[in-house]
Amino acid sequence: MEGFHKGIPFKKIGMKSQDTSALFFDNVKVRKENRLGDEKTGFKIMMRELAREPLTVGIMAVATAEGAIENTISYTKQRTAFKSPILGFQNTQFKLAECATQLQIHQAFLDRCIELLVDHKLTTESASMIKYSATDMCGKVLAECLQLYGGYGYMWDYPIARMYADNRVARIYAGTNEIIKIVIARGLLKDL
Ligand SMILES: Cc1cc2nc3c(=O)[nH]c(=O)nc-3n(C[C@H](O)[C@H](O)[C@H](O)COP(=O)(O)OP(=O)(O)OC[C@H]3O[C@@H](n4cnc5c(N)ncnc54)[C@H](O)[C@@H]3O)c2cc1C
Repeated sequence: MEGFHKGIPFKKIGMKSQDTSALFFDNVKVRKENRLGDEKTGFKIMMRELAREPLTVGIMAVATAEGAIENTISYTKQRTAFKSPILGFQNTQFKLAECATQLQIHQAFLDRCIELLVDHKLTTESASMIKYSATDMCGKVLAECLQLYGGYGYMWDYPIARMYADNRVARIYAGTNEIIKIVIARGLLKDL
């Protein structure tokens, strides 16, 4: 969703409408015709598709970082301090340059991962690498962007505050980044 706040364009990205709750499936029966795959092959099917989930989170992280940088450029262009747009300060430009560089690096690796997925060659290790690295990168980009909003960055009304809060979970779900690193390391060690 997109909108304007005090004349500043922003993209709304949020998870706040989504509740987190525990689901229990006791004595649930699924009709045979509704079963996905053959009996007792569920784990195998899940393992075969395992790379998709971390890749999806990697895509969200790269897209969120891109949205945050775009939002921050718009904001710092119009917000003035000491009679000058914040974007005019060298520190602002350097921070945005660092963020944009990290974004490009991750975008390139992400594109490669998507190509591999399309060719059915994406390994769980590569999908894990983009998941952990892109979510770490996104967390850092959001922290830098939020800082450039000053006090407004700490207000819920501003999308950057919501992006910062919502993105935090990306390092936790779809496998915590610590567990994801174990998966990558196992891949490195398997032939030794
Ligand atoms: C918003 C949200 C949505 C979610 N959606 C889903 C979903 O759709 N489907 C689903 O199945 N799950 C979902 N989850 C659950 C999520 O995948 C788990 O929270 C996550 O895997 C971490 O497990 P845990 O919470 O039990 O943490 P714990 O396993 O208790 O881990 C706590 C900390 O210890 C660290 N740790 C644990 N073991 C090790 C180890 N061996 N080495 C090093 N560090 C370790 C972890 O990295 C973490 O930092 C969701 C969670 C959230 C918050």
